[in-house]
Amino acid sequence: MRRFWSSALLAVLFGLPLACAAQQPRFRVLAFYSEHTEPDHVEFGEQAAQFLAALAKKDHFALQTATNFEDMQLDSLRQYQLVIWLNDLPSTPAARAAFAQYMDTGGRWLGFHIAGYNDESTHWPWFVSFLGGAVFESNSWPPLPAKLNVEDRSSPVTSGLPASFESPANEWYIWKPDPRANPDVKVLLSLASSNYPLGWKDTLVSGDLPVVWTNTRYRMLYINMGHGDKIFTSSVQNRLFENAILWLGTRKQGRGNPTPGHKP
Ligand code: ZN
Repeated sequence: MRRFWSSALLAVLFGLPLACAAQQPRFRVLAFYSEHTEPDHVEFGEQAAQFLAALAKKDHFALQTATNFEDMQLDSLRQYQLVIWLNDLPSTPAARAAFAQYMDTGGRWLGFHIAGYNDESTHWPWFVSFLGGAVFESNSWPPLPAKLNVEDRSSPVTSGLPASFESPANEWYIWKPDPRANPDVKVLLSLASSNYPLGWKDTLVSGDLPVVWTNTRYRMLYINMGHGDKIFTSSVQNRLFENAILWLGTRKQGRGNPTPGHKP
């Protein structure tokens, strides 16, 4: 009996701290999604928030969601290892400056689909540079499935993925300049040329179309998928998303240093 109580005491003394340690989240994620944007993007954002919530439980990270992209302040961003933009990007100078400073000082970012959209109306040169120089040129329509090639299967982001797979219906963007032209950009997945012509109303007929890439000057990853309600219907693609979040959430390596002198 005495032995039992001393074991129990030991368990209390040493077991509890271990139990507490086991419950600590591996990293903290802040995911922004807008409820007031294009309906197909709202739908994706809502499904993505559910997907992330399930993943947070499974992979033991803390998840906070937010719906106002303009409410981006440096102090609050810095409480998170990873910031995710699901279906929009900030437009006010203050929110943009806070995000740029977060990334310039080692923050991590995952952006889906419209989150990377920029053209002559965006007026945010820092963001173009952050994306690796990619500027939106045109898109396919309507949303269609497409075969994607996994270009680098040695990356943790593509771990366990086949050499190619069919990605569910999405609106695909093509970029000019092509981010691949930037030596700091590492393209991980791209659209297979066998998909061309892609689309009926807006048709992409040719060209290099990177779909997932990282600008190695930052701890960031852009994923073009993110339009409509089919995105999470592929277990292969879901694995890519999970890999991406775990890679960004836990990575220590990487330069993560912007070119000095870049202004948000
Ligand atoms: Zn879209």
